[in-house]
Amino acid sequence: DAALAVPDKQVESVCPYCGVGCQLTYNVKDNRILFVEGRNGPANQGRLCVKGRYGFDYAHHPQRLTRPLVRRADAPPKSGDFAMDPERVSDVFREASWEEALALAGGKLAAIRDAHGPRALAGFGSAKGSNEEAYLFQKLVRTGFGSNNVDHCTRLCHASSVAALLEGIGSGAVSNPVKDVMKAEVVVLIGANPAVNHPVAATWIKNAVKQGTKLIVCDPRRSDLSRIAHRFLQFQPDTDVALLNAMMHVIVTEGLVDRNFIASRTIGYEELAANVAEFSPEAMAPICGIEADTIRAVARQYAASRASMILWGMGISQHVHGTDNARCLIALALMTGQIGRPGTGLHPLRGQNNVQGASDAGLIPMMYPDYQRVAEPAAKARFESAWGLSPGTLDDKPGLTVVEVMDAAKSGEVKGMYIMGENPAMSDPDANHARAALASLEHLVVQDIFLTETAYLADVILPASAFPEKTGSFTNTDRMVQIGRQALEPPGEARQELWIIQQMAQRLGLDWQYGGAADVFAEMRQVMPSIAGITWERLEREHAVTYPCLAEGDPGTPVVFTEDFPRESGRARFVPADIIPADERPDAEYPQVLITGRQLEHWHTGSMTRRTAVLDALEPDPVALVHPLDLAALGGKPGDVVTIASRRGQVSLYARADESSPRGAVFVPFCYYEAAINKLTNPALDPFGKIPEFKYCAIKLTLGGQV
Ligand code: SF4
Repeated sequence: DAALAVPDKQVESVCPYCGVGCQLTYNVKDNRILFVEGRNGPANQGRLCVKGRYGFDYAHHPQRLTRPLVRRADAPPKSGDFAMDPERVSDVFREASWEEALALAGGKLAAIRDAHGPRALAGFGSAKGSNEEAYLFQKLVRTGFGSNNVDHCTRLCHASSVAALLEGIGSGAVSNPVKDVMKAEVVVLIGANPAVNHPVAATWIKNAVKQGTKLIVCDPRRSDLSRIAHRFLQFQPDTDVALLNAMMHVIVTEGLVDRNFIASRTIGYEELAANVAEFSPEAMAPICGIEADTIRAVARQYAASRASMILWGMGISQHVHGTDNARCLIALALMTGQIGRPGTGLHPLRGQNNVQGASDAGLIPMMYPDYQRVAEPAAKARFESAWGLSPGTLDDKPGLTVVEVMDAAKSGEVKGMYIMGENPAMSDPDANHARAALASLEHLVVQDIFLTETAYLADVILPASAFPEKTGSFTNTDRMVQIGRQALEPPGEARQELWIIQQMAQRLGLDWQYGGAADVFAEMRQVMPSIAGITWERLEREHAVTYPCLAEGDPGTPVVFTEDFPRESGRARFVPADIIPADERPDAEYPQVLITGRQLEHWHTGSMTRRTAVLDALEPDPVALVHPLDLAALGGKPGDVVTIASRRGQVSLYARADESSPRGAVFVPFCYYEAAINKLTNPALDPFGKIPEFKYCAIKLTLGGQV
């Protein structure tokens, strides 16, 4: 009885789910986790949400992959339109030894590279893996495959925010930690639902409100935190730029700008001011659905406060104008001087537990570790030297992004892939297209802990380790590097990622001899100036160090941009934005709008949380959140099955009456394989961040269907 058992060991680690980075303790007996407790980490101070506290038993799930699998010669043809049935896995795959699986996995990738060139291969790493895994994976693609075709799910979450931040202020990470909300007088929360997606961060916001901080929530959906907000602006979906430019119009025309800050620390203000001149609150009110007086009041409050902070999520980033949305937020902070001090600044709430670290480590197609551009000759030369390569070895052409890789796979340009811990068959937009693209590959290697929807399309599956089965460093949304420690042995013949990546590297002609995470981290410090001051021993001793940490003894830097911005001139840059409509607007055929996102109890594509007893019991079935009046207009009631169709596909699921969604908009979590909502989403991309428009596409909602 787990409830009565006494742990035989306690292991200090961090939560494997969201970017808040809560520290926790695994209580283990006989290689099983009995329960999890919160630790007194800087980000959580003992707090955990339902996922961190109860979302651990997936590691013991009977469906764990415990032996390498190879696609059977007589397996049915790969099809994107498959029915997942773990009981019938043996119809498609046969077990293999590691030697056979690795020889096949790496050998065929090498053969494709040799026959068709380096760009015929691509790799997706994982924002759930450690910094060391991300670093080695991107190094394998860049030096073993020979191209920059490496990406991960940052492309699907904050790529547009990062594009705008790098362009405007020279750094893609947050300026201030979440807990700075406690020091802010005004907090603007826009396009984010932390009570669901960053629950412990939401508790800090609640604490701040309790002690007097004014919370302004801007969102087309009424999130939980809007109930305690000083103001709630439920603007029309897709009208972010209209709302934000109108706020800036007020600040400029009423002289609420910080002239000293603009003059001494920025460039491009005049152009920005001229651009917002036509965006008066009166002109924008009918577009965004917020009264002009409210826009004026919020603008004044943000600009005039002692310290104002902006936090945002994927409601901002997942649009074809996601970069423009983020440019507006950056401009707001710059024109008012609300950055570079405690309680101010810009905080894109990072999604996955290590999406910040994986991006920092170079798991992106246009940049080496620490955002050094592959197209910059000096950066390329630095990495060739650091990695012991002859000059001219590394590819100087930026690689393909996540959605571009799928298109290239479908067209035959990319013929082989290595996917570590990601599930694009569920997470990519227009999932039918993504599945067909994966199915059309000559050779697909998937490394994961379960037979995911993506693994089902693989030629070779390499059984990997779950989060508590390995040690590594992870970087949270606050730029804080922390250690996750091994608490369990992997089951059966499952292996740790660092071992598997190195085995794959060998089959691709590389001779790597890293002893473990500390070894890899030591190399990362040499090529990543931002973490040069963080040693592995220090991480073990201090548990958390925030970068930039430039030299040993440097305490780390929770608040950045206090003196200047990491751009050539040291000055930040205003970038104006105009209104660009969503790629696919509602029409007579598809009259409603689909918004996708997450639920509190489930994580991303659900491969872990839907195999967790408590979380699955709380939210077992696919649901669509529909405004009760829209549901009634269909003649339906809560619990009825509804079918949602877009130009790309259709799914059926259970209707839940939900007043938080505006009328005409339906919200669906993307974690349910039975109703994979990404079959419907639009793959149209933001031109700068290359992020798809998950937050808006045209759909038709009808009553009935089969779940
Ligand atoms: Fe884990 Fe995030 Fe919940 Fe903290 S808030 S316990 S990091 S899921």
